[in-house]
Amino acid sequence: MRILIVEDEPDLLRSIAQALREGGYAVDTAPDGEDGFYKAENYDYDAIVLDVMLPKMDGWEILKRLRKIKKTPVLMLTARDQTRDRVKGLDTGADDYVVKPFDLPELFARLRALIRRSANKTTNVIEIGQIKIDTALRNVSLQEKPVELTAREYALVEFLALHRGEVVTRTQLYEHLFDENESSLSNLLDVHVSNVRKKLGAEFIVTRRGHGYCIE
Ligand code: CA
Repeated sequence: MRILIVEDEPDLLRSIAQALREGGYAVDTAPDGEDGFYKAENYDYDAIVLDVMLPKMDGWEILKRLRKIKKTPVLMLTARDQTRDRVKGLDTGADDYVVKPFDLPELFARLRALIRRSANKTTNVIEIGQIKIDTALRNVSLQEKPVELTAREYALVEFLALHRGEVVTRTQLYEHLFDENESSLSNLLDVHVSNVRKKLGAEFIVTRRGHGYCIE
């Protein structure tokens, strides 16, 4: 999962980004509205965390422009004295909002719910044969036994599982699993896929030659 955070308070931006990365997300950041809109328009994010009050272009303007071209789930960050923002945000096409100051765990829970809704999943748990993926706890079990995955391996499994039955291209995986600061060495993805197969079974992820990967 790749998330964009648009926030002009450096400390807040850093703490959200760091916590999300620790949770295995690929994270891009933008310190102002112009940069935020540029990235939102040009990259395919799984969700965007968007502050309302931003230099250069405010959050409403970004949202308005974005909604003309994309359905990327958007979580707005509003200030407590902007209660009317809530209504405005949902009218303009925001998917959810949190009021500042907020706890990081609450923000993450809302983000996960957003991503799940956008994939049309109503529960936290995705079951594929003997494999269970809990997207709230971010863990995986095989025949009821927990399986140790690295954060990146988990992200790979979750992304494929949320797109079950579809062929996901390598390009899509690079875009959703790695952020702008990571060098995407082409063999790295193969290493993650190979490790997941060792842990969850060789047939769990199917390779479609010349196309990409798929969970059937
Ligand atoms: Ca701000």
